Amino acid sequence: MTQSSASYVSTRGRAPQVDFVEALLRGVAPDGGLYAPVTWPELSTEAMASGDAATTARAVLAPFVGDAIAPADLDRATRRLTQVFDHPATTPLVELEPGLFLLELFHGPTAAFKDYAMQMAAILADAALAAGNQRLRLVTATSGDTGAAAVRAFAGAERVDLVVLHPLDRVSPVQRRQMTTSGAANVLNLAVRGDFDDCQRLTKLLLADESLREGRRFSSVNSINWARLAGQIPYYVTTARALGAAAAQARYVVPTGNFGDAFAGWAARRMGLPMGGLVAATNRNDALVRALETGVYTRSAAVGTASVSMDVNAPSNFERLVYEASGRDADLTRGLFAEFARDGRATLPADLHTALRREVSAVAVDEATTRAEIAHAHAAWGQVVCPHTAVALSAARGLNRSEGPVVALSTAHPAKFGSVVSQVLGFEPDAPPALRGLEDRVEQYRIIDADPAAAEAAMAGLG
Ligand SMILES: *Cc1c(COP(=O)(O)O)cnc(C)c1O
Repeated sequence: MTQSSASYVSTRGRAPQVDFVEALLRGVAPDGGLYAPVTWPELSTEAMASGDAATTARAVLAPFVGDAIAPADLDRATRRLTQVFDHPATTPLVELEPGLFLLELFHGPTAAFKDYAMQMAAILADAALAAGNQRLRLVTATSGDTGAAAVRAFAGAERVDLVVLHPLDRVSPVQRRQMTTSGAANVLNLAVRGDFDDCQRLTKLLLADESLREGRRFSSVNSINWARLAGQIPYYVTTARALGAAAAQARYVVPTGNFGDAFAGWAARRMGLPMGGLVAATNRNDALVRALETGVYTRSAAVGTASVSMDVNAPSNFERLVYEASGRDADLTRGLFAEFARDGRATLPADLHTALRREVSAVAVDEATTRAEIAHAHAAWGQVVCPHTAVALSAARGLNRSEGPVVALSTAHPAKFGSVVSQVLGFEPDAPPALRGLEDRVEQYRIIDADPAAAEAAMAGLG
């Protein structure tokens, strides 16, 4: 692939090819599929060479961006990784005991891993909109972390309005304050009387309403967005480098909801990163685990757990893995996910099932085990971990370390989920700089019924 021709196809095969900017600004392809690169680039020697997070991210992302974004803008976007993270290594790798590592992804401005890609995506979107003299309205439903990361990344952006819908009284107070205290005129927070599914349903209805476009681009920033997904590949590269020769045997255990973070690991390996294996660790919302075990992908009602950001009953990025593992068979992918949307269930062909099991493994961790893992991490290593991280750590400790190092991804700072942690450990975790002083700021949000007319009326106030 030459730089100028970086382009993307839909996993469902019925949408025109687009460049990086279109994939970024559209989010979902018009045929309902997800964007995938026409050709996977190889990791360049520059990407594998030593350098800080920004240098690595620039080298990893350049072939995906092609000439759709000016080099100076890609540079500005990737520089965020060394400017707004409160650790000099951006994503430090901590050895807990011989062969067992924690990859800390929570040193960004909202203390969860979503900052890493969202910070870059906001700059890239802004640059693309400026180049095309366009405006963008983003509407996103959140159970907490995505909304916080999006508000932080897009607050004050000149060409973007951001509407965030969260379920009233169902996000943690810290998460709510992170969303509602930006003071930015381009951010509208709506607290919906309902649950996360109501927020998601409203978001879909709003995005489908042509009358709300008013000449702007209209999209979402959820984890199926290609820019967010690609933006998570670089930390696998910096981690492999930190592991040195052992990286070829390293297994990465990823706390998984929509399978975006885990798929970024898959992408890193597809691009040539040495790796021993990938393990997706889920909570009781285990559709992925059951699909890999039984060959049948079924939707069941989402259940509430301590690892709320992983309470996902149909992991959206699974479609990307199916597309790749089927040898990029768009007809097969389209058929399977249409069947799943219709029936809440799809049977994977036997050869696809086998291929999927070669690409990743998956483990479900129940609530009692998650809490026990929070206690164990504190007792064994003096580490306070969030419930999402505990899910990954539990799965990680189940792996045989004589086969090579095991890296558990740590996706949020424990202080974001202080009440769960204090139930287990008896104390509240210390807040990192990113979470301090939130109580002193003025909150701005509107409470609405789970009704599109109410959301539209509230949105009328935005520019
Ligand atoms: C979003 C999130 C996850 C899940 O990531 P996916 O890419 O959706 O699998 C895990 N942990 C935390 C803290 C999150 O915010």
